[in-house]
Amino acid sequence: MSSIYTLAIHGGAGTISRGSMSAEAQKDYEAALTQALETGEAWLKTGGDALTAVEKAVVVLENNPLFNAGKGAVFTHEGQHEMDASIMDGKFLFAGAVSGLKHIKNPVLLARKVMEEGTHLYLSGSGAELFGKKNGLAFETDEYFYVPLRYQQLQDALKSDSIVLDHTVTKPDKFGTVGAVALDMHGNLAAATSTGGMTNKKHGRVGDTPIIGAGTYANNTTCAISCTGHGEFFMRAVVAYDISCLMEYKGLSLKEACRIVVYEKLVKLGGEGGLIAVDNKGNIELPFNSEGMYRGSVRMGEEKFIAIYK
Ligand code: ASP
Repeated sequence: MSSIYTLAIHGGAGTISRGSMSAEAQKDYEAALTQALETGEAWLKTGGDALTAVEKAVVVLENNPLFNAGKGAVFTHEGQHEMDASIMDGKFLFAGAVSGLKHIKNPVLLARKVMEEGTHLYLSGSGAELFGKKNGLAFETDEYFYVPLRYQQLQDALKSDSIVLDHTVTKPDKFGTVGAVALDMHGNLAAATSTGGMTNKKHGRVGDTPIIGAGTYANNTTCAISCTGHGEFFMRAVVAYDISCLMEYKGLSLKEACRIVVYEKLVKLGGEGGLIAVDNKGNIELPFNSEGMYRGSVRMGEEKFIAIYK
């Protein structure tokens, strides 16, 4: 049993600069991040497990239209929503993933169901939704997922013929995925990530978020990771697993492993974004090579940390 718990969350990375956001919008983001942290921490504090803590924190962010996941998921080229999510249990290396969801209210809950049911690890599209229906997951209508700002973002992207990552106003390089990683008091690690993907993405496009080892990974012997950024690059760099491998096989610290992957490997490929990471000793890293990343963390007995900019 580790004597402490830690929790970190993100709400996406990208060109988020101080000048581009009103004081009011900043407050809204900070309040949403705080709520997600508090929800996850309340669970960990009473001895709750890391897996449920990351799930609870991600559900809060999925239900908030500010973030590109669940309710706030961005539009595809065809004007629809295709959400992806995954979750991983660092104790047994169990994992669940889903992609191409159109009407599931909380994709992370479906990913967990897939994991727990255990037959398959990854379900996509209509098959995933059917599995959700059979398992009593909450569904929502197209109207629920219609957020005017997101629709405007699609119109802008269609005009400029660009595939846009979320949190973008002027440049097509912002990301809005949500995620959480945690260490519980029993020494177990877990990670979860959920996204709407990229504005104006092609029907059927899947990014790193539901790919175990790319966008999400957890292993009690090393760390738990949840990524946000340009998914194509995160998949090529197998980011989350690479960090775990650097720790496991090379004996690197969490900090050093994150530094190499986020600031060297990804940069060399041209991959913009960031990630949140905790290790089994309670260390927390929140590295990103973009201008900003919505992020927060808390360690038992310490003040909460919330930040947006560099
Ligand atoms: N990584 C996500 C994707 O490529 C996007 C994001 O992080 O905002 O689908």
